[in-house]
Amino acid sequence: MQRLQVGNFELTAISDGLYHLDGGAFFGVVPKSLWQKKVAADEHNLVPVGLNSIVVRTGEHTVLIETGIGNKLPERLVKIYGQPAKLLDHLAGAGVSLEDIDIVINTHLHFDHCGWNTIRQGGKVVPTFPRAKYYVQEGEWQYGRRPSERDAISYMSENYDPLIASGQMQLLHGDQEIIPGISVKVFPGHTRHMQAVIIRSGGQTACYISDLIPTSWHLEVTWVMSFDLFPLETMESRKQYYAQAIPQKWLTMFTHDPNLPWAYVEKDERGKMVAKQTTYG
Ligand SMILES: [Zn+2]
Repeated sequence: MQRLQVGNFELTAISDGLYHLDGGAFFGVVPKSLWQKKVAADEHNLVPVGLNSIVVRTGEHTVLIETGIGNKLPERLVKIYGQPAKLLDHLAGAGVSLEDIDIVINTHLHFDHCGWNTIRQGGKVVPTFPRAKYYVQEGEWQYGRRPSERDAISYMSENYDPLIASGQMQLLHGDQEIIPGISVKVFPGHTRHMQAVIIRSGGQTACYISDLIPTSWHLEVTWVMSFDLFPLETMESRKQYYAQAIPQKWLTMFTHDPNLPWAYVEKDERGKMVAKQTTYG
């Protein structure tokens, strides 16, 4: 668990554990001879992948960004991905109760980003965070109702449809402020409606960039995952993000980095993108 301050807000990185993805899929068209310098694959070509959520305590609200894989994955998918299911233990360890969370933001609705939105209780699917309002883009939810054959496996309606039915999940239309200091911005590429979460307080800014830049290994504009539905848009969105985040010194938070939940992204003298670890916090 790592903690830091962004202005008056306290941010805690909390993991749902590690899962594993095929290294080839994770790094798209990048040859293994290049990506294996960043992370070693096992004998099945799998690499460890993080599931980083962020708790933001603003003083008034306790916001949870992203909810990991959860514990409802069917057996056939557990065999492929594993199901670490550590988020609730780690929240408790950080002194955050399920009732403390009053806002949950999902960047998109793939199962590894909204799994703990709900849990099974006595044959029913119920909200994990009973007091929370949940937020996602309406376009993402609409797409998830009729996904393509290519990514249908990623959408599991029990992670969000019960919340829509109960009115606990609010559907957003584009860029919007959720509460003072916390807003969302749509960056198309991974999916068409994936949103990043921007946190601003006391003149400092942090951004949970989600699958637009899943780890600190994916900083180069061309290192795009093969899961992305619109890889050319991912590249454009990354350029747009860097154009603002680098000069304004935003802290970038990585969903899937197993080691580094956040870092400053900079361009070095050779034009390479580098992650600078934070020293404050
Ligand atoms: Zn993901």
